[in-house]
Amino acid sequence: MSARLDGLKVFVRTFGCQMNENDSEHIVGVLAAAGAAPAGGPEDADIVIVNTCAVRQKSEEKLYSYLGRLARLRRKRPFLIGVAGCVAQVRGADLAARVPAVDLVIGPDNYLDLPEIIGRAAEAPVVRTDFGRDWREIGPEATARVTPASAFIPVMEGCDNFCAYCIVPYSRGREKFRPLGNVLAEVRSAVAAGGVEVQLLGQNVNSYRDPGSGLGLAGLLEAVAAVPGVEWIRFITSHPKNFGDDIIRVMAACPKICPALHLPVQSGSSRVLARMNRGYDREAYLALVGRLRRAVPDLLLMTDIIVGFPGETEEDFEATCGLLREVGYAGVFSFRYSPRPLTAAAAGPDDVPLEVKRRRLIALQSLQRSLQTGLLRSFVGRELRVLGSGPSPRGGGRFAGRTAGNLVVNFEAPADPSGRFVTVRVGGSGPYSLHGRAVG
Ligand code: SF4
Repeated sequence: MSARLDGLKVFVRTFGCQMNENDSEHIVGVLAAAGAAPAGGPEDADIVIVNTCAVRQKSEEKLYSYLGRLARLRRKRPFLIGVAGCVAQVRGADLAARVPAVDLVIGPDNYLDLPEIIGRAAEAPVVRTDFGRDWREIGPEATARVTPASAFIPVMEGCDNFCAYCIVPYSRGREKFRPLGNVLAEVRSAVAAGGVEVQLLGQNVNSYRDPGSGLGLAGLLEAVAAVPGVEWIRFITSHPKNFGDDIIRVMAACPKICPALHLPVQSGSSRVLARMNRGYDREAYLALVGRLRRAVPDLLLMTDIIVGFPGETEEDFEATCGLLREVGYAGVFSFRYSPRPLTAAAAGPDDVPLEVKRRRLIALQSLQRSLQTGLLRSFVGRELRVLGSGPSPRGGGRFAGRTAGNLVVNFEAPADPSGRFVTVRVGGSGPYSLHGRAVG
């Protein structure tokens, strides 16, 4: 019989991407199935689990500062402190040694064992960072969804690409794929629980292969679209080098697949892309964007950019700025390069000075802000279908939601539209969002 945690309260703090948000839904779900109840915060928890991101040095630093706060809080009352996710996987026992307040360190492939590990951690610190070769199914019954209308559905995990800067192949292991039948069962379960949008997740979702049939992402998208009740489908993250024409054809043919893609480019310089080991050059990326836009004319693109990768010259950086102008992204996540442990780039010099990285990042963000402002302005006056997500963080009694193109809309409405589709007439725009009024 698995360990029981009846009467205990658990709080999970999440850093990082949608995969981590979904993992936290699993952690809470697995612990709830063992009898634990959610806590409102660390102050009233018996167990605090920090689900971590290792992708940038800054995100790791945030973890250590948060652990310091937890350790101070624990001087007032006892509770267990656990670290899960990518930093846990990569740092393992070193993390427990560096922060003695940590009682358990658990990698992403071990969440099903959490109740038993927590039971043992009450006696002595536990580090569990094994990786299995096969998919470990955490079904919908052990998933505590935060946003039931918009369900995260993992379809693969890990990465085989070994981009020179990226820690993911070490923190998440090699690629493994969730069987199609399990994906579809979770999609049906999500719909039964009120889901209208599904977000298929994986670090490299384009390389999906059903372990039984070999069916790829295009077939998976068609199968998900055939589930009654699914209205919008997104998939993230796409790797440009694995974006086959079969996926583009399905996107063009299936109106349920949202015309929005996160298509990380990282740099606009072919020289830097080669050193990053990305597997495509500037021309191939732009050709892919061209094929996508011909097939899906209203497609909106988002991307990731790293500035200051080792060896990046002013000319390389200008090529990246030129690419932003040429593509016209609806959003860009941009970062200064920081070396991550175990990666190929970390073995060489981090030779772009910090002040140069800072200057380039500010210049790039300012450029993108102006490009984005112009793009969003083109939506003013239009009526858009929006999936409501709740009160707007901007306040003013307004609500927030997203369009199929993944644009944020803040709007006035007569009633809370959370989890429902509404039509919004766009009255204005800023660099990061649209605003308007519900008309239906
Ligand atoms: S494709 Fe590259 S950047 Fe993306 S997860 Fe894999 S190694 Fe990291």
